[in-house]
Amino acid sequence: MAIILDGKKLKEKILENLKIKIEGFEKKPLLTVILVGNDPASMLYVKNKKMTAENIGINSEIIRYPSSVLEDELLRKIHELNKDDNVSAILVQLPLPKHISKEKVISIISPQKDVDGFTPYNFGKLFSGDEPFVYPCTPTGILLLLDEYNIDLEGKHTVIVGRSNIVGKPLSQMMLNRNATVTICHSHTKNLPEITKTADILVSAAGKNIIEEKMLKPGCVVVDVGISKDSTGRIHGDVDFENVSKIASHITPVPGGVGPMTITALMLNTLALFENSKKCL
Ligand code: NDP
Repeated sequence: MAIILDGKKLKEKILENLKIKIEGFEKKPLLTVILVGNDPASMLYVKNKKMTAENIGINSEIIRYPSSVLEDELLRKIHELNKDDNVSAILVQLPLPKHISKEKVISIISPQKDVDGFTPYNFGKLFSGDEPFVYPCTPTGILLLLDEYNIDLEGKHTVIVGRSNIVGKPLSQMMLNRNATVTICHSHTKNLPEITKTADILVSAAGKNIIEEKMLKPGCVVVDVGISKDSTGRIHGDVDFENVSKIASHITPVPGGVGPMTITALMLNTLALFENSKKCL
């Protein structure tokens, strides 16, 4: 049976250390989250982020707007937050309503406060091989988890299913930086199983239940980013956990794998931006 890559346990360990560190700060970091609309999943994510932050001594505020909010109003608020010295980190919860340009909104967040690492500045730095202020949260969380279990990427063939800006693209670059050989697959990829079978490390971020045991090489490491709900409301990932865990060497559960690590990386990023802002004074 595969070793479980326990994101929940690692989250507790990292956050405990962060809490102790933050206790020693005179001024606390502030994470500001912008939430537009009433999407239940987004509301839950934002609530969890705020709760996690406050549990470790990071101040957090949620600024809410109705889904009818005008793009200009949102842009004005971000400009205001960019200038506010009390705000260490800004997160705009995605998705945004269709009438608002996600690209425009993200692009005006100050790179020094861009806690997701999604601004063109930080993304560009990542892809040019330079240091962004912070790296995107989910890929960071995945690498922290692999490091914890001493899974080395050097020379390994990593197959990533999914090419979004949130997961697949930044993760591919971060894994290249660790000297992995990276293949990215997506919905137009032909013969997906032929490719996944060659993976030493498989990361799936499709949001669909597509990874079966027969698609994998015995002994591979499996990281399941996907979060979906079945008809009974049960949360599951992209991977057939029950059968894949019989042949993989390591596997992340859903829930309890990548999800807790994403929020851990968000806290680490908030702290990194806060500490960097003090350096800039
Ligand atoms: P997107 O919908 O933006 O991207 C999904 C990607 O999967 C796309 O690149 C798509 O290809 C690809 N894809 C879809 N179907 C297939 C298929 N049958 N075969 C191969 N590739 C396929 O999603 P996100 O990246 O935002 O999120 C992916 C999943 O991860 C979701 O379930 C999301 O909830 C979860 N997630 C979990 C996080 C966590 O912390 N655990 C954090 C972020 C996301 P194409 O580009 O061609 O459309």
